[in-house]
Amino acid sequence: TELTKDDVRNLVKEYNVKFVRLQFTDIFGVLKNVSIPVEQLDKALNDELMFDGSSIEGFVRIEESDMYLRPDPSTFVVFPWKPREGSVARLICDIYNSDGTPFIGDPRNVLRRAVAEAEAMGYSMNVGPEAEFFLFHVNEEGQPTTITHDRAGYFDMTPVDLGENARRDMVMTLQQMGFEIEASHHEVAPGQHEIDFKYSDALDIADKVVTFKFVVRTIAQRHGLHATFMPKPIFGIAGSGMHLNQSLMKNNSNAFYDPDAPNQLNEDCLHYIGGLIKHIPAITAITNPTINSYKRLVSGYEAPVYIAWSYRNRSPLIRVPAKRGQSTRIELRSPDPSCNPYLALAVCLKAGLDGIKNKIKCPNPCDRNIYELTRQERKELGINTLPDSLYDAMANLAADDIVKEALGPHVLQRFLEAKKIEWDNYRMQVHPWELDLYLTKF
Ligand code: ADP
Ligand code: MG
Ligand code: MG
Ligand code: MG
Ligand code: MG
Repeated sequence: TELTKDDVRNLVKEYNVKFVRLQFTDIFGVLKNVSIPVEQLDKALNDELMFDGSSIEGFVRIEESDMYLRPDPSTFVVFPWKPREGSVARLICDIYNSDGTPFIGDPRNVLRRAVAEAEAMGYSMNVGPEAEFFLFHVNEEGQPTTITHDRAGYFDMTPVDLGENARRDMVMTLQQMGFEIEASHHEVAPGQHEIDFKYSDALDIADKVVTFKFVVRTIAQRHGLHATFMPKPIFGIAGSGMHLNQSLMKNNSNAFYDPDAPNQLNEDCLHYIGGLIKHIPAITAITNPTINSYKRLVSGYEAPVYIAWSYRNRSPLIRVPAKRGQSTRIELRSPDPSCNPYLALAVCLKAGLDGIKNKIKCPNPCDRNIYELTRQERKELGINTLPDSLYDAMANLAADDIVKEALGPHVLQRFLEAKKIEWDNYRMQVHPWELDLYLTKF
């Protein structure tokens, strides 16, 4: 049951809410807040709240800057941590132009468009994300470090594991905010954690991912730690991914499941995989949108490098977990948590739908460990590699009409412009690695 505007008005009274944060994300997935005193809530619920879109990165130019925030009542939640008096709630908003039309540069609108296309074909998308993150210490000046709480020796004198306590607090806070937590555990690297919550429809999950990151950071801070979703904070140990488990529903049942088909997979599922595999070089620019993302996509750390899929082992890009029935799904393993979840889900869905529409054949599954294959063997099996840099991914994005269409011209152009600047800045840096290698050698 979705909340209505009246439900929101009642809940605000019930919880003695004093401030409401109106939230939305910019094209890079960074959460933005406009805080309003509760007296202004009616104005916001009546879509009368204007803001200056030119102050948000990637949105609009000054001359067209008047935009409206349209709060989505179903996203209402009261923050479980309390200021001294009253409480604070939030509403996630859609962004509208001053003429009352949805703003095509709004990432939430990008995802809504992809979801609408799926709906027109009779499908709805379910997603279960697995976001990993690191917990680091802050130094005396309050600046984040890359020192983890469970680095040997560092915490010899402390009997409790700060990280485990913080994670337990995160899980409880998320539960209070309506998340159904399925599991939480320490990950392979020191200081690395994962919290999994139950899958839901694409828009709900994108909203939940931005909320999740915000809660994890907030609670970490309260424990004197810094949480980061940076994909590869430390060279030589595993990075943080955000696997995206995806399935489609049709007529209220799992469209990927067919009890009578080989491997019990419906051809929709195989075509969806075919679409993802066809478009993955472009999708990668969106699912792995930072310079640092590509330092995670290297062999040896459970992150995918090769474009292949499998039923069993976890080395390929796409895995089909053994669960069937309502749990039939595919797991895309390349995305990382620095991505904008609205855009990431939109491009995945759009690629999968393209696979279904055009019956794109998926390659044979590869159930061997791809890292042990020789270059020649990979070539014979037709296994290509993911883009190995942001630059490479951007070039693939610029050449893929389906993924470009998913983003729309506004987001595409702003995204490519900003990422070009990011790349050029990086390219000009003199890296410590270079000094180590060349300073004394030449
Ligand atoms: P892994 O085995 O890769 O560690 P997890 O158990 O950590 O997987 O996470 C699996 C995710 O997949 C969870 O978020 C779960 O809710 C989600 N999931 C389960 N069934 C479906 C489905 N039918 N469609 C999409 N996601 C699903
Ligand atoms: Mg997991
Ligand atoms: Mg698991
Ligand atoms: Mg994991
Ligand atoms: Mg996984």
